[in-house]
Amino acid sequence: MDDTSKRTGGYGFETRMIHAGSQPEPVTGARQTPIFQNTSYVFYDSDHAASLFNLQTFGFIYSRLTNPTVAVLEERLASLEGGRGATCCASGHAAQILTFFAFMEPGDAFIASNRLYGGSITQFGKTFKKFDWTCHFVDVDDPDAVRRALTPKCKAIFVESLANPGGVVSDLEALSAIAREAEIPLIVDNTLATPYLCQPIDWGADLVVHSTTKFLSGNGTSVGGAVVDSGRFDWSVSEKFSSLSAPEPAYHGLNFQETFGDMAFTTHAHAVGLRDLGPAMAPMNAFLTLLGTETLSLRMERHCENAQRVAEFLASHPKVAWVSYPGLKNDRYHELAQKYLPKGAGAVFTFGVAGGFEAGLKVVESVNLFSHLANVGDARSLILHPASTTHRQLSDEQRQAAGAGDEVLRLSIGLETAEDLIADLDQALTATA
Ligand SMILES: *Cc1c(COP(=O)(O)O)cnc(C)c1O
Repeated sequence: MDDTSKRTGGYGFETRMIHAGSQPEPVTGARQTPIFQNTSYVFYDSDHAASLFNLQTFGFIYSRLTNPTVAVLEERLASLEGGRGATCCASGHAAQILTFFAFMEPGDAFIASNRLYGGSITQFGKTFKKFDWTCHFVDVDDPDAVRRALTPKCKAIFVESLANPGGVVSDLEALSAIAREAEIPLIVDNTLATPYLCQPIDWGADLVVHSTTKFLSGNGTSVGGAVVDSGRFDWSVSEKFSSLSAPEPAYHGLNFQETFGDMAFTTHAHAVGLRDLGPAMAPMNAFLTLLGTETLSLRMERHCENAQRVAEFLASHPKVAWVSYPGLKNDRYHELAQKYLPKGAGAVFTFGVAGGFEAGLKVVESVNLFSHLANVGDARSLILHPASTTHRQLSDEQRQAAGAGDEVLRLSIGLETAEDLIADLDQALTATA
């Protein structure tokens, strides 16, 4: 078996969407994964308890660390991404903190794309400063700019495979080569693409983060996050990653890399990250997200098909200044999208309405079928004016860089009838006259 089929049991993506990580519940035979809505688990005896706490035995202790329902989702996401292990947590932002917390120390730095989801720019640029972590934001379309920004303190490169909201596609192969040279991990936020459209680990990503809140759950019901580890990064490659490759005092000098090998990051993220930071995923949210994963491929196909049709309609509309959707042939990211997102360019994109800020507000106030709110990846179509909402904490310059200027509207195209979506946008654009 090649590397990929070893990681996936040889099963196809759609089979793994439904079966990976789950089996009939052994006591009752329940076929769908039950919701283990409990906090704690009885120890067989005091030796069993001791070996669990020493990380010598795998098992459940307390649901802040691990929970059987959450564990099924973790295994499923690891399988869908072709990774070795996964850690689920309370939100996409929690997944990002958990990821960096595993190896960053005060005074450390990392490089991130300057066109990330607005919340990530705020988290990395402002809140991470409180931990004395510095984020260097770089235009990652320019590999030389990324190389120039690298300092000895840099411990990772962070990009989105398909960026929210600008429709920016990252050249993952080029970026992973830079990360490999620098002996630091490439971290890819795969939220908007989902593992169905893009497989970052195949292109050299070491860690993949998700806001499962979006397409993975798919119904706008459950906030959640995950980090999937490829298991390929050797944390003992340099002194930089000592939290994962030097003796850990809180576990009697245990060395995670030595003891757990390709499960070092995932074990650490549970045993230290979730233990001490505390952002556990609720079992109910894991259950709802598992339901979402079962239909992921079907939904993503329809999301992409509808988005392509809406984007083509907008591109020819007189009230529309521009459309930034990598599925359009003349888009600057079309070629990269064909390479990294061959099944479709996703369903979240932006367009510029003629008439700027006021016209943008008018459109969100005039739509009927689209919901005006701050989310993406719902079965319903969503619209947002980033400049007055999600990106309002950013400076004008940051907003422009993030593709969220005054005239920009963001769409998340749902699963409705495409003609109905087109008609709704048409009447709202006409209302701006
Ligand atoms: C929503 C989102 C996040 C943050 O996830 P939450 O679940 O809202 O914390 C991070 N990255 C991207 C690309 C997102 O769309």
